[in-house]
Amino acid sequence: MTLEEFADRLRKTREIVFFTGAGISTESGVPDFRSPGGIWTKYQPVYYDEFVSSEAARARYWKMKNETHELYKDVRPNVGHYAIAAFEKRERLLGLITQNVDGLHGLAGVSPGKMVELHGTDRKVTCLDCGKEFEPEPIYARLKDGAIPGPCACGGLLKPATISFGQAMPQDAMRRAAQWSETAEIFVVVGSSLAVQPAASFPVVAKRSGALLAIVNREATPLDDLADYNYRGAIGEFFTTLNPLLADG
Ligand SMILES: [Zn+2]
Repeated sequence: MTLEEFADRLRKTREIVFFTGAGISTESGVPDFRSPGGIWTKYQPVYYDEFVSSEAARARYWKMKNETHELYKDVRPNVGHYAIAAFEKRERLLGLITQNVDGLHGLAGVSPGKMVELHGTDRKVTCLDCGKEFEPEPIYARLKDGAIPGPCACGGLLKPATISFGQAMPQDAMRRAAQWSETAEIFVVVGSSLAVQPAASFPVVAKRSGALLAIVNREATPLDDLADYNYRGAIGEFFTTLNPLLADG
């Protein structure tokens, strides 16, 4: 299938699901945390059980997150984030499933009801007991010299609202993502190497349920052979080429 043919299908379809990974955000300057030199290779990972049981682990975790928080001050959505948001404006977005925690899709204008953040978000802090959510800014402002944020009013521990190693995936998010995958007419993977389970199972579910599967990524993925359309290259370049083809009429 050519890009023109793929664009034609996108223009004629309302039930489109996007699935995004780190690759879309690296083009905004967010490093892939798994890459060499990425934050996960620099800091020893903190598992959820450690976070809950050890103050030293919590201090280490907040220090790492503070670095991420500083980085986010300078990053903005790019043409890819805005292009996906435009599908919602044209009422063609069934849903967006993202592995990213940087919140850039939300900043580009995708509404919360249309988005599942599989690994949570760095743009909120949450209480592990009562689930109350907090804006991160005042909390990070007080985070000095390894001092860790005090507990919630209920006594529960505060934690950035991302899913840690060893922490259960949020059931509601997983359910919505599965449902969208089953009902998508077109399922577009953008910037994911499809290496992490269970996230990588969604394109397979979509394809088995009859969706047209497209994969847009810099590198080959294990599911390329399953896809009806593959684009190997920069994501910004892909959307810059695609956007004019989507104009109605
Ligand atoms: Zn609480």
